[in-house]
Amino acid sequence: MRIGILALQGAFVEHAAMLDRLGAEHFEIRQRRDIDRGFDGLILPGGESTVMRKLLHDLGLFAPLQQQIREGLPVFGTCAGLILLAKSVEGGTPCFETMDISVLRNAYGRQLGSFYAEDNMEGAGKIPMTFIRAPYIRSVSASARVLAVVDGNIVAARQGKQLVTAFHPELCDDLSVHKYFLQMIKGEK
Ligand code: GLN
Repeated sequence: MRIGILALQGAFVEHAAMLDRLGAEHFEIRQRRDIDRGFDGLILPGGESTVMRKLLHDLGLFAPLQQQIREGLPVFGTCAGLILLAKSVEGGTPCFETMDISVLRNAYGRQLGSFYAEDNMEGAGKIPMTFIRAPYIRSVSASARVLAVVDGNIVAARQGKQLVTAFHPELCDDLSVHKYFLQMIKGEK
């Protein structure tokens, strides 16, 4: 199994380190030809969704990745990655629009919106959650499933083979969410 990690900007190295610890093969997606290598799953990291959206278009990555996600490529979006997948983005512009969720950008405030929590995520158990200028999910459609709620706000969800978290599991020591993603790819979750 091989995972492509979008490596245009943001916290992609940290995702690679998590996959290394789980023994999963991975490579960085930086330009159009990287996509031709073929992969079984895609990680969209945290960072700045406006910058990533622009680079995805400028580098010709947007259309081929959107098509693969639409066709069922398993994808895991963290924070900015979650925003990139959402159909509706309050306070921003949608990008792939493949996941039927409505998201509020910078939901906890721009400057002071960073915090740590420990809470339950369905399928992953009680886990550490690091939020950095995070969005949260305002609503999910009937075809999407809520996986975690913190302080009354939806912070993790899944629709088909699309998994999103508003927090950054790659910045904590706990491997549960990445394990969940690998199991999802294999069809075990
Ligand atoms: N606020 C960022 C955005 O809108 C996301 C922050 C993050 O990924 N840590 O893209």
